[in-house]
Amino acid sequence: MEALRDLPADAPLVVLTGAGISAESGIPTFRDPDGIWARVRLEDVATPEAFARDPGRVHAFYDARRRALLDPAVRPNPAHEALAMLERRWPGPFLLVTQNIDDLHERAGSRRLLHMHGELLKALCTACGERREWRGDLGVETVCPACGRRGTLRPDVVWFGEMPYHLEVIHAALERCRLFVAVGTSGQVYPAAGFVEVARRHGALTVELNLERSAVSDLFHLHRFGRAGEIVPAFVDELLLVTGVGLA
Ligand code: NAD
Repeated sequence: MEALRDLPADAPLVVLTGAGISAESGIPTFRDPDGIWARVRLEDVATPEAFARDPGRVHAFYDARRRALLDPAVRPNPAHEALAMLERRWPGPFLLVTQNIDDLHERAGSRRLLHMHGELLKALCTACGERREWRGDLGVETVCPACGRRGTLRPDVVWFGEMPYHLEVIHAALERCRLFVAVGTSGQVYPAAGFVEVARRHGALTVELNLERSAVSDLFHLHRFGRAGEIVPAFVDELLLVTGVGLA
């Protein structure tokens, strides 16, 4: 299959999003020139070894990101809203997989959503395993409300070297989807960067929506380059029109 118009209106869809979809909401990406990795070394803040070595530093990094996410100026943008609208209107199975740890998809109204790299607004207790919503700072002195131990809480995010969440469910969806769309992701972090290959091997039409070519661009049948806030709503409208689902 090589054209959107060949897609049945009840075809299973999988959409993968990365940091690029949240850039226009004011959340920096990782790998762009003004991205987070231009300012801090990922080895210092985003690995289990970094947390074991200097938990205070890792907490400070995520505390700052959590506060920034909760700034009232940070809101979902038209790309998040378009994907929430697509989920509501699409007649077939739909799954949104995000590498993002922000909650902008939820705020835009997405519900069939998996956070494969965890969530910034949750804390995980390394002692009792309890996971709970967390909107304040976390520190080495913070007490776990579930087990009462001190210093055992960590941000519920997946660090480099750890296993992403929900991989079985995601793989099952990739294997049966007929359309796979990747939005705002550099294609450099695996296993997410390999999802296009899995979907394509199982017969899906694959579409890349990104500012520029990614590291895995060649694996996509179709490309739209530009800012997510513009190209995602345009693509969703195009998909709903050519498949006959229609706009609201
Ligand atoms: P990345 O930083 O590696 O790549 C971002 C991609 O988005 C690049 O290809 C870039 O060209 C593109 N982009 C930048 N601005 C864009 C825009 N306005 N419109 C469309 N595309 C744009 O991010 P990634 O591929 O998601 O890397 C994966 C890791 O980054 C994940 O582990 C994720 O947890 C993490 N991350 C998440 C957030 C967040 O939660 N919002 C922010 C930064 C990084």
